Amino acid sequence: MGDFNRGQLHERLQNEQEGPSRREVNRLRAENKRLRECFSREYLFDGWEGCSNRDCIVTGPKKGVATNSTCTCVQDASRVQRSILGQKLNAALANHEQEKE
Ligand SMILES: [Zn+2]
Repeated sequence: MGDFNRGQLHERLQNEQEGPSRREVNRLRAENKRLRECFSREYLFDGWEGCSNRDCIVTGPKKGVATNSTCTCVQDASRVQRSILGQKLNAALANHEQEKE
């Protein structure tokens, strides 16, 4: 009982409850936002037309009148389109890996 330091315990509990610092939270928010942009449809499929399928990867989920077959936009893409898409994904991943270090 003698060594028990109420002040220290209180401080320790408070530190544990506080979690990540505001600065860390802000850094993660910014990182999250940047990644969302890097991996957004608008960016990745810029200039693509998309198809009429409900689950089109280019235009996103559709409601109402849409065909039920599978989106083949990526398979049907030209060699150039696929190359650009690959470059964008690689750049986004490399960027993300760098950020983690
Ligand atoms: Zn599609």
